[in-house]
This record gives sequence, structure tokens and C-alpha cells, in this order.
Amino acid sequence: MNVPLPLLAFGAHPDDIEFGCGGIIAREAQAGHPIHFILCSRGEAGTNGTPTVRTKEAKKAAKILGATIEFITLDGDAHLEIRSAHALKLASMIRRIKPAVVLAPTTEQNQHPDHWRLGTLVRDATRLARYGGLAKLKKSPAHAIDQLFFYALGAGAEPIGASPVLIDISTPAIITTWTNSMEAHASQMKTRNYVELQLARARVHGLNAGVGHAQPLWPNDPLIFDSLTSLSRSASKF
Ligand SMILES: [Zn+2]
Repeated sequence: MNVPLPLLAFGAHPDDIEFGCGGIIAREAQAGHPIHFILCSRGEAGTNGTPTVRTKEAKKAAKILGATIEFITLDGDAHLEIRSAHALKLASMIRRIKPAVVLAPTTEQNQHPDHWRLGTLVRDATRLARYGGLAKLKKSPAHAIDQLFFYALGAGAEPIGASPVLIDISTPAIITTWTNSMEAHASQMKTRNYVELQLARARVHGLNAGVGHAQPLWPNDPLIFDSLTSLSRSASKF
């Protein structure tokens, strides 16, 4: 029996994945796909919540979504820099986990700097993971992923002028699971209602495409289909 390759999602902060693409994660988990999260800080620079609290919240949220989770240390919350050592470290993790699909924050710069820097590092890492001759990665065999997709943490992080791929997350079970995973980050609910904000954004994307709720992703490389008829449907336009 073929075991499906996992889906690997990177977050700069403990709540990024849930808020940026949690509905998609819920949908994929419910379809039986293994999912792994790598978080690159414990939110120690956040206005609310201690690193201990935020680690706990992230673990709870991952469990709700049906994902496994690990934390790694790069430069710390709000200090992330783009360095080849980081890209190599992420590449070695990609080689270990062997994902088919990788998710990371968009590289739009007008957002938290950790988000676009992590998106850039992950893009570099997916490339380095498939290069056979890198001495520092020699311990594990090269691995080529199928596709890298970027998720946006808010409307401002969405790439301008680029059409996203929309994932339909309209079923009540997906919306409930996703909402519960966002609400697991209780320490982050004190300033703005991030849950309502993300549900509203998914609602707008969905309505524009003729479904209840949809979350957008931006592919790093062109998507390839066997034929035009293999597209199950396209988004309706007003
Ligand atoms: Zn963040």
C-alpha cells in the first residue's frame, strides 16, 4: 500500500498556520493526509501570551487539526534573518520529512518581517533539498517536493495581481474544526477578533468563487494538469 507523502506547513509564529491556511489543513486532514507543522519561534516577542502559553496553544491547535508539530530555533520571534545556514537547516528537515506539498507564508514585504523572510527561506530550502551535491546535506538523500504554496496571514499579505488557487472549505465540519483551531490561540484573542477576520476573508474568497468559504494559496511554480477537462470546476465571476 502506498503511504501518502505528508503535507508540511511552516509557521514563523505559533498561530500563523491556523490563521493563514487552517481551513485547508482541516480539509486535508479529514481526507486522511498526514500533516506536519514546523514552527520557527514560540511567539516570544508577541504583545500577549508567554512562550510557554503559546507553545501549549499551538500544540492544542495542531491536535484539533490532526497535525503533528515541532518547534525549531532560528533567530527568534521578530529577529528572523535570511541566511544560507537557515535555508540549509530547513532543507535538511524537508529531506527528513519528505513532503509532497509544502506551505509557507507569502513573501510580500508589507507584513510582519518574519513572515516574508520565512517564506523566502522555505522557497530557498525546497530548492536546496533537491540538489544532490550539497556537502552539508549529505546525510540524507535529496528530495524534490511536488509543489510549494504560499498562504497569506491577511488581505495585506496577499500577492497583488496574482490569481490564487482557491480551496473550497465550505463544509460545516471543516469550518468548525478550523474555527476551534484558531480559538485554541486564546492569548491572541485579546486585541482583535482574528477569528472573525479570517472567517470573513474566507467568506469573501468563497463568495467570489460561488462557494460558501474558500482559502487562497499562491503556487510558487506553474501548476500542471493532465488536460483542461481534469479541472473539476472554475471559480464563477460576477
Ligand atoms: Zn505571525
